[in-house]
Amino acid sequence: MTYDINIVILAALTANRMGDVVMTQRTPVTVAYGDGIGPEIMEATLNILSAAGAAVELETIEIGEKVYLRGVETGMEPGAWDSLRRTKVFLKAPITTPQGGGYKSLNVTARKALGLYANVRPAVAYHPFVRTRHPGMDVVVVRENEEDLYAGIEHRQTDQVVQCLKLITRPGSEKVVRYAFEYARVNDRKKVTCLVKDNIMKLTDGLFHRVFDEIAAEYPDIAHETFIVDIGAAKLADTPEKFDVVVLPNLYGDVLSDVLAQIAGSVGLAGSANIGASCAMFEAIHGSAPRLAGQNLANPSGLLLAAVMMLVHIGQCDVAATVHNAFLKTIEDGVHTPDIYREGTSRQKVGTREFAAAVVDRLGQAPEVLRPVAYKAARPMSLWRGDAPHRKAHKELVGVDVFLDWEPGSPQDLGRALSMVVAAPLRLRVITNRGVKVWPDGLPETFCTDHWRCRFLAEDGQAVHPADVVELLRRVTEAGFDNIKTENLYRFDGVAGFSAVHG
Ligand code: NAD
Repeated sequence: MTYDINIVILAALTANRMGDVVMTQRTPVTVAYGDGIGPEIMEATLNILSAAGAAVELETIEIGEKVYLRGVETGMEPGAWDSLRRTKVFLKAPITTPQGGGYKSLNVTARKALGLYANVRPAVAYHPFVRTRHPGMDVVVVRENEEDLYAGIEHRQTDQVVQCLKLITRPGSEKVVRYAFEYARVNDRKKVTCLVKDNIMKLTDGLFHRVFDEIAAEYPDIAHETFIVDIGAAKLADTPEKFDVVVLPNLYGDVLSDVLAQIAGSVGLAGSANIGASCAMFEAIHGSAPRLAGQNLANPSGLLLAAVMMLVHIGQCDVAATVHNAFLKTIEDGVHTPDIYREGTSRQKVGTREFAAAVVDRLGQAPEVLRPVAYKAARPMSLWRGDAPHRKAHKELVGVDVFLDWEPGSPQDLGRALSMVVAAPLRLRVITNRGVKVWPDGLPETFCTDHWRCRFLAEDGQAVHPADVVELLRRVTEAGFDNIKTENLYRFDGVAGFSAVHG
């Protein structure tokens, strides 16, 4: 094992810079300084936390570029995982992922391995002190963090076609949606908005929407609404001040949270929390900005605000509010790093270290124009009621979609040939190409690839036996077809658990 754990005591037992007696019980936190600007912004952040009297005990781990280049494909040594599993709290600076293939995203690995199901990203405008087109903006994105297209299950199936599996689960949706409502309640937020595309993805996004409606009913004190993600995203970008908390599946959340951070003012200003049932990870939303590294130019605010979220998470709400208000006062006083410095608005252009010193000087002060913050000592952890009694739906097998790699002719040729494959009670009902019906009665204009979905159902809609499907597949293969995958078709409590055919 090649890494060391440094124990650094940040909080003294006696008094902090403001003369208050600080907490004696220190919470262990795993810290990674990362790459590029990471070490500078981490040092600035920890200096501020120390001066504010944060009661944390730091274990430093090494992650990122050097670890990748030592041949560890996840960018993190096994011992570092031990630290995380022990402390369960991770303050992480950005890392550089080396160019070239083979390196796994450390963030994706950490999110999945530690079960960090909710990614929380506030996007706040600091008008009139930081330039923005949306002065009233104060949106919190709660993004599902573990599933959706990010399950990373992809296959090449034919010469022409690749696929990526979109997985939406009931427990995954329940966890993140409940977190969003609890977050809203704890933080005095008034509304939760859900964005989905369930007019097209009726089963996957439909489930997320249904879970949202079910859980929203348990929070009558909080308003709720749902938009289709395309128009919802347009409204968010146009009038973000009309939104409060937004909860959405992984991919939409990934895209929209960056858009919101950018239109709020600067990616350098936004922090994020990755919350799980037992662990949590806090980081700036930006990357390691290698070109700024080592020049005392980087804005440490994103990591600092992530650290504020961490302090709230570990129950040190007063320290969190002290740091956050000192940060707001610094921004309000026009003490700005170059990324947000504007002639006429800003007063003093400072480097990373000087910005941190300015925040430390203002500990104990509150902003006068920007709204001061206060945090309640409640944290919405372990909210998933996955162990609650759950009635399993009655599941019946009613057919199978057989996917073929087939090129030689027209859809009519395929329909004719495949209709000859008789395996009662299953019968060929429809063939689609890229989801569009091409047999029977397809349109000659429909573009076809070498990837065909052939749906077999029983004559009268009755349930079938798994052996019937096995027999069908045997005959399909025997007839010379290249069967590349199958999807069983089920009814759950009498309702079809598969999408209807378009066209
Ligand atoms: P980036 O976020 O590092 O930089 C984008 C732009 O924003 C650059 O112009 C940069 O100078 C500026 N910027 C970013 N943070 C800033 C700050 N704190 N202060 C002032 N300006 C700031 O994105 P990139 O250039 O696409 O990526 C650089 C590296 O970071 C890549 O190796 C990428 O893989 C990695 N990355 C890591 C994380 C993470 O660790 N969470 C996230 C994103 C990217």
